[in-house]
Order: sequence, then C-alpha cells, then structure tokens
Amino acid sequence: MGTVEERLGEMREAFRSGKTKCEKWRRSQLMALLALVREEEEGIFSALNRDLGKHRAEAFRDEVGVLIKSINFALSSLKQWMAPKSVKVPLVSFPSSATVVPEPLGVVLLFSSWNFPIGLALEPIIGAFSAGNVVALKPSELAPSSAEFLAEAIPRYLDGAAVKVFLGGPSVGSQLLEQRWDKILFTGSPRVGRVVMAAAAEHLTPVILELGGKCPAIVDSIGSSEQKVAAKRLVAGKWGPCCGQACVGIDYILVERQFASTLIDMLRRTVKSLYGDSRNLSRIVNRQHFMRLEGLLKDPSVSASVENRTDDLAGSPLDSEIMTEEVFGPLLPIITLEKIGDSIAFVRDRPKPLAIYVFSNDEALKKRVVAETSSGSVTFNDTMIQFAVDTLPFGGVGGSGFGRYHGKFSFDAFSHEKAVMRRQFLLDFPSGTLHGTRPSSGSSGTSSTSTTSAFCSS
Ligand code: NAD
Repeated sequence: MGTVEERLGEMREAFRSGKTKCEKWRRSQLMALLALVREEEEGIFSALNRDLGKHRAEAFRDEVGVLIKSINFALSSLKQWMAPKSVKVPLVSFPSSATVVPEPLGVVLLFSSWNFPIGLALEPIIGAFSAGNVVALKPSELAPSSAEFLAEAIPRYLDGAAVKVFLGGPSVGSQLLEQRWDKILFTGSPRVGRVVMAAAAEHLTPVILELGGKCPAIVDSIGSSEQKVAAKRLVAGKWGPCCGQACVGIDYILVERQFASTLIDMLRRTVKSLYGDSRNLSRIVNRQHFMRLEGLLKDPSVSASVENRTDDLAGSPLDSEIMTEEVFGPLLPIITLEKIGDSIAFVRDRPKPLAIYVFSNDEALKKRVVAETSSGSVTFNDTMIQFAVDTLPFGGVGGSGFGRYHGKFSFDAFSHEKAVMRRQFLLDFPSGTLHGTRPSSGSSGTSSTSTTSAFCSS
C-alpha cells in the first residue's frame, strides 16, 4: 500500500512519464471506466443498497446511468476538447498566429461525499482523465461499502499508477491535505470546504468547492391541469434522489398563501402514490443524521406548525434550524408568501443556492428570477434534471461553492489553457510600430525601443 507520500510519489512519477498526455491513454482509461461501471453494475447496486438502502432503479437513474452517459459524451468529444484552439490576433502582432493549448494540471485530489458515493466519486475522474491528469480519490467514510467497492474495482480496471483510492475518514483527509496537489475538487459541506480551502492556500493549490445549501422551489399558482405534473416533479425532486439527501434537491417551497392549501394536498397525495411503499426510497445514511433530522422537527415552533398542518406551514419560523440549516433529508418546509413575486427578495436575502426551481407559466416572473437572483442553476417547471445535462456547467456560487464541472466544463476544470503565440522572423517592422506608437521622426524612441526589445525577447 505505502504511505501517502509514497503513493503520491508514484502518481507524480506516472504524470512525469508523459503517458497521460496521449489521447490514446486518455481514451483507454475512459473505456476502462465505462467497462467498470457496466460490468460491475451488480457490485455498485449492492454497495449502494448496503450504504443507503438505494433501490436498483434509483441507483441506475442517479449514478450508473448518469456515469455511462457522461463517459460516452467524453469519449465522443475528447478529440475536439484536446485540440488547440486558434484565436484571432491583433494587427499589431502581424504576422503571427496564436492558439490556446489545453494541458493537464498534474496530480489532482478528489473528495467525494456519501449521498451519491459512486457517481460523485467517478464523475470528476471522467473530467480529470479526459484532461490527462493523475487522480487521488478520497471517498466518504460514511458510505463504507461504496468506498471499499471503489478501492477494490478501480485498480482492476484503471491504470493503478494514475489513480489511487485513499480510504478513511477526516484524519486521512487531513493527511492528504498536507500534501501539495495541482488541483483539489471537494464535494461536501461548507464546514469542511473551509478546511480544504485553508489547506490548499498553503500550497497555492486551486480548488473547486461543490457544496450544498438550501435550494428553494418557487411554486406559482399554475392551472389545475399542470398541478398534477408539478406535484409529481416536486415530490420526485424532494424525496426521489437519496430520500432528500441531495445537494440539488428541493430544500423548501415558497408558495402564495391562497394556493398553499391546494398545493399541500396535491403533494400529500403524490407522496403517497409515488412513495407510499417506502421500499422504493433510500434510507437516512446513519443514526446521527437521523437524529439531526428528528431534531429539526423537535423545534417547538416547527412541531406546532406540523401538528396544525393544513395550509399554514408558514408557521415554520424563518429563524428555526430547519430554515437556517440545509435540511438534507425528507423534510419539506413550506413557506407562504402574500405574492409569489416576494419570493425573489426571500431568496436574495439568503445565501446563494446551488439550484432554484420555479414552477410557473408567468414569463415575467421567470425573467425576474434569472435576472434578479444568483444561484448555481435555475430550472423551470422541473427539478434536478439540469444535473444530467452535460452541456450545462454544474457548480455553485457564493455559499454553495465555486468552480464548475460536467461535460466540457470538467475537461476545462482540470486543464490549464496555455497561451501559445507564434511569430516569424520575416517582416521586422521598425521599432514601435508593433505597439501602434510609431515614434515621430527625429525622436530617439528610447521608450518604444525598450518596449519593443522586451516584447521581442519574450
Ligand atoms: P463532509 O464535508 O462531512 O465530508 C466530505 C468529505 O470530506 C468526506 O470525504 C470526509 O471524509 C472528508 N472530511 C471530513 N472532515 C474532514 C477534515 N476535517 N479534513 C479533511 N477531510 C475531511 O460532507 P458530507 O457529509 O459527506 O456531505 C454532505 C454535504 O455535501 C452537504 O452539505 C451536501 O449539500 C454537500 N454535497 C454537495 C454536492 C455538490 O455536488 N455540490 C454533492 C453532494 C453533497
């Protein structure tokens, strides 16, 4: 196995060998990753079931299926992503040409979280390998079966010198953070995100923080024919993925007071019909998280509003923990507002969310949400779907994190875009012309000469 330093040394050696820069190597690793996901599907399903009680259909939809789609997208786009891009040059540099050449960063460190313990571990590897990097992966210790599955399967399929799995909890995380990396992608809580960023600062290592937060769903009073579809999508977006333990899941609903009771009834009926049989739902990851969720409901003001039920969960006081902390579970606070337009100010007064969902036919409201709020993403009339769109960047802003990945954005996240400028020895213009500041005749041109010589020597 070796120490962290020894294993990191091997990874650096693998990167220095230059093999990861070849398209052939990158393609072979993506193919191997695809084979891992396809051939080891049963192993993935059973690990997810042991860790989170995930049903096969959910495991395929949210992890295996998403990965297969992402790998295929990377394989079909790789050549194009890797190609240097020609850019326009200004007249002052005539004759010349310039390109932007993507180059791998080196050895990157990935932290993944427990809620999608296979998907969130392997998705960033697609981008890191596409871009020609070597990878250290630290899965979450809170999904131990998935972490062990990754540690066992990855070396069987992938280039063992170019990807290593580090099992363990925060102490292993700390040891890894003491090392110098070329980039860190961290998926997890804002609390640990701060630890990661502070450690990365020591080495001036760039970071991507994929954090969580409170994602609102703004539900306008839509027509009765659309209410059914909306309720289904809201319920699926709240309870469907990992029983509400999802960073882009709905955290709370904002609804107009006059429409609240209709909506709540629709939601109740839909929850029963979709998840009445709770065997289809994942379970809460562990006892500690279960107790945390129970604690959110035990807040006297919250439990009073739950007991009073009906149309006024606006009783969920805005300073209660359920409205100040990320819920990350199957509880759904519903906040009523006088006018749905007030939702804009409500969202703006709080940390920037990872996602905002809006159910409405009102184009003016939609425009306002995009223009007047800030969030990682905005999705109209559906939930979660943006996560699976490879052509959209995935990432937060402000409190929900920074940096982005998925599709080409992953390739870019793990690449350095190197500026390459090519000039010829032909056509050596008199000094100064290149900068558009031809010295007037008779002038000594000292400043332009020195500028030009600095330009030429670079
Ligand atoms: P976490 O921050 O507790 O742990 C994340 C990782 O950090 C784990 O691998 C853990 O072992 C490691 N870690 C924990 N303490 C550490 C320390 N002191 N030093 C070094 N490493 C340490 O997060 P979690 O509980 O696994 O995940 C839940 C959070 O993640 C939620 O806030 C959720 O919204 C967020 N999340 C975000 C995304 C996203 O893509 N934006 C996806 C999933 C989860």
